[in-house]
Amino acid sequence: MTRRAIELLLLVALGAVWGWAEDSPGFTLGGCLLGALTWSVLDGLRARRVLRWLNKAEAARAPNLGGAWGELVERCRKLIKKLEKKAQSSDARLEDFLAAIQASPNGVVLLDSSGRIEWSNLTAANHLGFDPQRDLGQYVRNLVRNPAFTAYLAGGDFGHEIQIDGPGPRPSQPTKISLQVHPYGKKRKLMISRDVTAVQLAEAMRRDFVANVSHEIRTPLTVLSGFVETMQSIPLEEADRTRYLDLMSQQAHRMQTLVSDLLTLSRLEGSPSPGPGEWIDSGELLAHVVQEARGLTQAISATPHLIEPASGPDLWVSGAKTELLSAMSNLLSNAVRYTPGGGTIRPGWRMREEGGVEFFVSDSGPGIAAEHLPRLTERFYRVDRSRSRETGGTGLGLAIVKHVAQRHGGHIEVQSTVGAGSTFAIALPPSRVRQRFSG
Ligand code: ADP
Repeated sequence: MTRRAIELLLLVALGAVWGWAEDSPGFTLGGCLLGALTWSVLDGLRARRVLRWLNKAEAARAPNLGGAWGELVERCRKLIKKLEKKAQSSDARLEDFLAAIQASPNGVVLLDSSGRIEWSNLTAANHLGFDPQRDLGQYVRNLVRNPAFTAYLAGGDFGHEIQIDGPGPRPSQPTKISLQVHPYGKKRKLMISRDVTAVQLAEAMRRDFVANVSHEIRTPLTVLSGFVETMQSIPLEEADRTRYLDLMSQQAHRMQTLVSDLLTLSRLEGSPSPGPGEWIDSGELLAHVVQEARGLTQAISATPHLIEPASGPDLWVSGAKTELLSAMSNLLSNAVRYTPGGGTIRPGWRMREEGGVEFFVSDSGPGIAAEHLPRLTERFYRVDRSRSRETGGTGLGLAIVKHVAQRHGGHIEVQSTVGAGSTFAIALPPSRVRQRFSG
């Protein structure tokens, strides 16, 4: 303030001195006025600089002024700097929030009061098939063209979620998504989308599984209860009684096998994979399952099969012995059950070209058409349904084999030609094998 007053006085005095030098009182007064005018022009220019700078409000470009204007500029500069810092940290926090929402496995869409997209993460854009940049500001109902969704949005009852078909057709896009709207603020909405394809699939598989198990159990139960009723209501000859009891025992056995296979499968699915476990002599495993298969062919075939184990490398394999035995004997028992009596079955171990080892079973049976091969390891999938039933199959054998192989880091392989027999193999990785003489 003082500086401005001094400047004013100085300029007025200068004007007065100039007027006085002209030796006229009129010029002295005029000089004073001219000095005052010059001061106000200069002051106005400074004010303009300050105002221009305030319009842009960038702390770094503050004009360099002295006196009262300089102090005003400095105070404003400090204030602007403070605000700039605050804005920067708010921006950084917003970026963090948005990055966190981007990383969410759920889709997030922010809608304004009239249902236009204000922001969406990439997941939501993928779920709903829109472009997170280009479609900003679009009405969501125009982009998600689904009658159930339109009704949900218009209904205003957001207490529950809805499920709609995904946008397809890219494989990365979900086929089923769940949507729920959460109102917030002034008529704004937060919409969450979730990919429920896997949940739906699991639910469908669970329903199929329960239906299959019920069906498998119902048949022997119906037969059993039928015989029980007959035996309760009609006095039977000894021979009929014995025959009925035999049939009843067969059905009870069938249910037992089914329950036992189901338990095996659920144990395999529910327990951690076996570690290196014990090292087992591959020849001993082979001898065990061959003996079992010879017993089976004697029991079920009028003309027993020729079971000829192939000679192979002398190996130790590592894993869970009971699981390996169960998988191997499932393959051998299938070969016996599906190959007509008198046929040849060759089980054995052999090294694999790409490393590792495999247990294989070749048979001279009917073979399997190519279209069935990919589905053979599905639970309850059967090619020859009647042969499976006749021979006590549960439809779970190959599912068990697949699980055992996978738990040991391996896989199951099938080669088959209709009319020329089949070869099933359990391939094990090199880490599960070592030559017998080395250990
Ligand atoms: P199942 O208890 O019915 O034998 P699996 O899961 O063991 O069930 O086998 C699935 C189906 O694969 C069988 O129903 C059968 O039709 C077919 N299959 C399995 N092994 C053979 C084989 N060696 N030769 C011909 N078909 C086979």
